[in-house]
Amino acid sequence: MNESEVGWSAWHHGIKRSLGVCALLFCMSTPQSWAWGREGHRLTALVTEQYLSPETKAQVVELLQADAKNRETLADVAPWADEYRTDHPETAQWHFVDIPKTAVTFDRNRDCPVSEKDPKSPWRDCVTDRILYFEGRLGDTSLSEAERAIALKFLVHFVGDIHQPFHALGDDRGGNGISVTFLGSATCGTYRCNLHGVWDDSIIESQGLSEKKYTDRLLQEIKDNNWERMAGGEPTTWANISHHYAVNALAPNGAFLTKEYVAEEAKVVDAQLALGGLRLAHILNRILGTPSTPAAGDAQSGRSPLPVQPTGNSRTAPSSTTSMQR
Ligand SMILES: [Zn+2]
Repeated sequence: MNESEVGWSAWHHGIKRSLGVCALLFCMSTPQSWAWGREGHRLTALVTEQYLSPETKAQVVELLQADAKNRETLADVAPWADEYRTDHPETAQWHFVDIPKTAVTFDRNRDCPVSEKDPKSPWRDCVTDRILYFEGRLGDTSLSEAERAIALKFLVHFVGDIHQPFHALGDDRGGNGISVTFLGSATCGTYRCNLHGVWDDSIIESQGLSEKKYTDRLLQEIKDNNWERMAGGEPTTWANISHHYAVNALAPNGAFLTKEYVAEEAKVVDAQLALGGLRLAHILNRILGTPSTPAAGDAQSGRSPLPVQPTGNSRTAPSSTTSMQR
């Protein structure tokens, strides 16, 4: 595990494949990044918090209180799904989607396997399906608040994960199999650097910003680039964009990642963190907000909550066609 664990999410590619091919001790000495690491997930949620309507905020607080003994925020619970998978390996594949490097777009039949635990389930084992699945559960008021809180915790994590480009690439275990040297160092934390881990954690850490300053930078970039207009969309589209970024950022095994690479790709990381945050806010406002009551905006931050789409909350699993609609 990456020592910092402060990055986006790499359990995924790492655990899924490595358990089958190596003994535990070997795995422990092999650099696998686990998670966007913790900080990437937190930053995504911190952006989201700034764009929730008052109604949505209140719902989020209520649900998280139903789940936790402590008062946890959306950012606090954002990395949770990576911890959960330790004891629930059946959820490991929910964190990513394996789109081949050579593919142009996501193909559900090729890239999203039928659920191992429940083969008859219409919901499959990849991040695009599971975002829709947990949207449905979050909006299902026949479920208990504790069950809906779990759905919220998965959702905040998976919307983050799908925006980490290497969570949408199938080759080389999502880049976990590509050893690199990062800014002159072969070790990242206490492990050999690999490309997936660099994207989970190292690029974020290399910015040298506090969480507060990094969040402020993302909020400023949203404003400067008018990214709010891109807050909607579908998980399959987000996966395709992530895949495109990952293919562009691929480096060969043994590559030296220079400061030029980091400067260039940090722009992609920032855009993806910010858009993940905006899109999660859009989802939560749609499901938990009250469309009949126009949101008054965030008095403290001066930001307005994102518009609410007039769609229903219920979700059905995609049909067997190759792309998902909702
Ligand atoms: Zn994850």
